[in-house]
Amino acid sequence: MKLPQLVQTQFLSVQDVATIIHKIGLKTVFTRMADYIREDYLRWNDFEKCARVANHSKDGVIELMPISDAKSYAFKYVNGHPKNTVNGLPCVMAFGVLADVDTGIPEFLSELTLSTALRTAAMSAVAAQELARPDSKTMALIGNGAQSEFQALAFHYLLGIEEIRLFDTDPKATEKLIANLRSTSLRLIICSSIADAVRGADIVTTVTADKTNAAILIADHIEPGMHINGVGGDCPGKTELHADVLHRSAVFVEYEPQTRIEGDLQHLPADFAVTELWQVLARQAPGRRDADQITLFDSVGFALQDYSALRYMRDAAKELGLGQVVSLIPELVNPKDLFVLIHPDSHAAAGQADAPTQRAIQALLADNLAVPA
Ligand code: NAD
Repeated sequence: MKLPQLVQTQFLSVQDVATIIHKIGLKTVFTRMADYIREDYLRWNDFEKCARVANHSKDGVIELMPISDAKSYAFKYVNGHPKNTVNGLPCVMAFGVLADVDTGIPEFLSELTLSTALRTAAMSAVAAQELARPDSKTMALIGNGAQSEFQALAFHYLLGIEEIRLFDTDPKATEKLIANLRSTSLRLIICSSIADAVRGADIVTTVTADKTNAAILIADHIEPGMHINGVGGDCPGKTELHADVLHRSAVFVEYEPQTRIEGDLQHLPADFAVTELWQVLARQAPGRRDADQITLFDSVGFALQDYSALRYMRDAAKELGLGQVVSLIPELVNPKDLFVLIHPDSHAAAGQADAPTQRAIQALLADNLAVPA
């Protein structure tokens, strides 16, 4: 009897990703995730890239983020709904897939809400390692919501940031951050305004959520030598930085065609010069020129970071034996006969294979229960 071709998808849940972090440790997870991102950014020209596809609505956006190289195809589904938190839902929720380019099999399906916070913070840290002054010790963190602890810890672990100056229009968000990070050695300072938080900071991270063209940072806030990590301006009509801040800065982006649409860069004319970060990582363009230069990473979140995050989570899950196989794609004896799955006779015949055939099926299943490489 001909056996069906096994088509297995490994699934990683939110709990699995949390277990990976508990077992490996957040510092190592950030370090490894940053390594994966750097590795993939150095292969920039191997990837087929496009700006993400965004469907906008009154209060938010839902986006699909595809990317591929010769071996793997990845996409992320992600939303951005700043008002969600009022109703007890996260502003950002995501999941994604890694698929085999040769066959199209979706080999790995994972939560990406937690992983997005990890990869966004790791990406911010990778950019800051190139762009911030190497002696940076203090960071202002404007916006203390879901992403904020991850940003704080990535900068602590990967850049040696020791003091974080906090501001959020919602004092409860800041209280939550302080409670979450109380066991770390970070010095956390509550500030009364954005100006107060930013004054004297080496790095300024803006990670607020509001569907408006806000002016979280204005030119008066900016001091020579600062590095700005602009994370929350990531959608048409949803920005954080006054245009004068960009005019005063050397601006670095993930993927220029997408950032022109979604980043704080959307306020500036199409000929305003920016540098794609991969060029800096590949030493094809300079990063920070001198200690007084103001550098700005206008982050919007690019599909390549999610490809890296999926790759890392798949490898970490395999190492720890986490995740489960899910039946996402039918397994067919005759791939041209999909109808057999709903044919009444096939239900009647189910479980009636003879003993040798059943043993062969069991052996085939056992051989294939390992996590795909
Ligand atoms: P969140 O809703 O959990 O937190 C946002 C925080 O910003 C809230 O606590 C809110 O009170 C605060 N805030 C809003 N307006 C403010 C203002 N004017 N001044 C100070 N604080 C203000 O959202 P989140 O999940 O932490 O995401 C934050 C932002 O980051 C969102 O805009 C999201 O779209 C963006 N994001 C970007 C990337 C990327 O790759 N660039 C990835 C993930 C999320």
